[in-house]
Amino acid sequence: MNVMVAEHIGFCFGVMRALNIAKKTKERTDKPVFTLGPLIHNPQAVHELEELGIHPINSLDEAPGGILIIRSHGVPPDVIEKAKEKGFEIVDATCPFVKRVQEYARKLCEEGYRVIVVGEENHPEVIGIIGHTGGKAEAMNKRRIPVIEDRDRIGMVAQTTQSIENLKLAISYVVERVKELKVYNTICNATYMRQQSTKLLAKEVDLMLVVGGKMSANTSRLVEIARNEGCETYHIETKEDIDPAWFSGKITVGVASGTSTPDWVIKDVVEYIKNL
Ligand code: SF4
Repeated sequence: MNVMVAEHIGFCFGVMRALNIAKKTKERTDKPVFTLGPLIHNPQAVHELEELGIHPINSLDEAPGGILIIRSHGVPPDVIEKAKEKGFEIVDATCPFVKRVQEYARKLCEEGYRVIVVGEENHPEVIGIIGHTGGKAEAMNKRRIPVIEDRDRIGMVAQTTQSIENLKLAISYVVERVKELKVYNTICNATYMRQQSTKLLAKEVDLMLVVGGKMSANTSRLVEIARNEGCETYHIETKEDIDPAWFSGKITVGVASGTSTPDWVIKDVVEYIKNL
């Protein structure tokens, strides 16, 4: 079986940074170390962290205190305040690119814009961005289209992992309805490069495997992008998810990955396919 790997794969800067911050924090302390939610949306990487003594919690009530690492997605400011009140020491590993989106959204809100975040309303990054506007910003996506009035002044940012196509759709929907629209294209470059290389690869191969956590928004987006190119595509977390029947009659397989997929998981998948 021929295997082609996307040009841009593996951990992005923000994920790598958050992992390094978490590991260094654990090295320097005897206190318990927690992350609020899994540090990254990849079960294999989270398992490795647990073995180092860095444990995910889903709510502040699940731990008695200690060090709390804020993951790359960021959180609303009130979560940090509550954590401090509960006695947690905060280590903020929010990706600087996510911080920039939070800042743009806050600024737009202060300037009097009705702020729209193009993204998934339940995604932690979007919840964090909206939190930085005091809850005033609204999420917009294909299932959640806000009613826009012609007197609205709209300020728009995007979840860093959105596809450029989704942002363009949102812009064209809004711009037809208002006189003033200010957009910050906050799609992260690492995300954009992975999306573009996945798109190119999907045009060339008979089947695509996109490797990454099932909860990873950016991995799901890559699956959507490859499928939009008409390529048969499967979202897998590890080589164990592969069904050999998928490869029947196929000559070339493409492999892409999200920004939170460890290199060793990708290598395992590539080796497995090569040996089929
Ligand atoms: S995808 Fe971009 S914004 Fe998100 S963590 Fe990685 S570098 Fe940061």
